[in-house]
Order: sequence, then structure tokens, then C-alpha cells
Amino acid sequence: MSETIPAKLIEDTARELTARAAIDIPSDFREGVRRARDAERNKLARFVLTEMDRNWDIATEDRRPMCADTGLPRYYVRAGNEARVEGGFVALERALRKATAEATGAIPLRPNRVHPLTRVDPNTNVGIHAPEITYAFEPEADWIDVTTVHKGGLFGTDYRMLFPTDGVPGIKRFFVDTLVEFGKRGLACQPAIVGLGIGGSKDTCMRLGKEAACLRLVGSQNPDPTIARLEAELTALGNHVGIGAMGFAGTSMVVATHVEVAYTHTGGMPIAMHSFCLSSRRATARIHSDGRVEFRADPQWFTDYYRREGVE
Ligand code: SF4
Repeated sequence: MSETIPAKLIEDTARELTARAAIDIPSDFREGVRRARDAERNKLARFVLTEMDRNWDIATEDRRPMCADTGLPRYYVRAGNEARVEGGFVALERALRKATAEATGAIPLRPNRVHPLTRVDPNTNVGIHAPEITYAFEPEADWIDVTTVHKGGLFGTDYRMLFPTDGVPGIKRFFVDTLVEFGKRGLACQPAIVGLGIGGSKDTCMRLGKEAACLRLVGSQNPDPTIARLEAELTALGNHVGIGAMGFAGTSMVVATHVEVAYTHTGGMPIAMHSFCLSSRRATARIHSDGRVEFRADPQWFTDYYRREGVE
């Protein structure tokens, strides 16, 4: 029987994760942006990317958030099937909400979360359904992985119901339409990691698109070679629509494209797209049942079990 994980340890870990996500941009994304800068021929777009790299260094040195808009903090929790939390999962949720509120004041984060109608701001980034917590499970494990994502960019997200006969050309059309629509109006800071969720139902493809954008490392590929090829083609396509960093002309709009799929209704092919903006903020920790906490860069969200297909 494994040890029980203290709720206070989850709270302390979440507070540390929140600071790391807000301040330290993950190295895989930084490397991707540097590659985009080196390939960029437009002087203005190159200048923006060089200055952004400097801005990230300054944020890390000063321990200050790297963008004035600190996004919307949310959590992804993967629990091992054998993991036990002191006080149960209600205690875990209370710990994550408390850590979010305290970190908002201590770091500080911009208190972005308001009531949608009254616009009342509790100044904590906590409220009804906020922060969001998404759960997944892992067999034969007694740890809990906590990932926080501070999703910025109100725009750059869209959905379309395609017909099966639209096929890959229809997917590419939707991809380019969405990039151009938001890019030309300056509604999402580029370059971004673009996530596409294809299939499932409407809510499933929206969820998968966001997870594909926010929870996979730049440089990773979908394990299905056909999907991996599509990812590479979409990235190349996105960098040839003529929009570069921060809406200037150029070739640096997409750092990477990640595609995740779900089995869907035979009559349709729903698709959703999310942009993880220039502030691609995420941080992960594994909390072991013996009290050890390991911080790491890779959320490892898309496990074989998570992408399972058949009946076990
Ligand atoms: S879209 Fe991203 S980089 Fe731009 S202001 Fe919002 S959080 Fe900051």
C-alpha cells in the first residue's frame, strides 16, 4: 500500500509551479522561437523575436512575469491509479485553488479572472469554474503529476464542423483561414504553438486542440506517422501565409503544430484550433507518494494509455 500524499505538499508544489510558469519560458519553446528568428528574413519580425528572447532573460533574472498579461492559470492533473491524497481529491482541488489565490498576490499575477456579467474581480484568479482542473489517470502508478498552464491569447481559437470528404485539404483550409483571420487583426501574439484537435465531439476536439497546443513539447511528433507528416506540412503552410512575429510581414507565425485525434461520428469531422501564444507558459511536477517532488519541463500528458484505442 503506498503512502498518502499530503494536501499541503500539493499546495506548496502548485505555488512553485505557478511562479515557474509565469516567469520561466520553457526551453523547448525558446529554442523553437530562436530557430524561427534565424530563418526569418524580414528585419522587423527578426527584431521582435530577438527582443522577445532578451525579455525572457530579463524576466528570469528579475523573477518577474514575462508578459503583463499573465493569462488564465489552469491545471492538468494526472493521478496514478494507486495514488492517495490526504483528504481525497476535494483536498487536492482546495489546495490548487488556495495556491492560485496566494500566488496571484505574491508573484504577482494580473488578477484576470472576473465574473462574466458583473465584471467583479475577486483579485485572486479564483472563481466559479476557475481555475479549470482537467484530470487524467495512469495505470500502475502511485504519483500525481500536476501541470499548470497560464493560457494567454483570448483569440486565435476556432472551431469548424467539416464533412469527411473535406479531408486533409479541408483541414488545411480551416488552419489557414483561422491563422489569417486572427493574425491580420493582431488578436494573438505570434509566433505560437498551434494545436489542432480533430474528431471526437465538439467539446472533445476543443479540449484536445488546447492540450495539443499547451501540453506537448516543441519538437515532439504525434506517434502516428501520417499525423506527424500533417503536423510538419501545417507548420510549413502556416509560415507561408505572409504573417510573421507580432503581425509584421514575415515567415515566423508558427513555431510548431501539434495534432491530436479522437474517434468521431461517421458523418462528420469536427476540428478545433488553439494558439499557445508568445507566452507559452507551462510547468510540471511529479509528486511521489514518499514525499519527493520532481519538477520537469515535459508535461508528458499524451501517454500511451491516454491515447489508447481498443478494449483492454
Ligand atoms: S497573447 Fe500572449 S504574449 Fe500576447 S499579451 Fe496575451 S499573454 Fe501576452
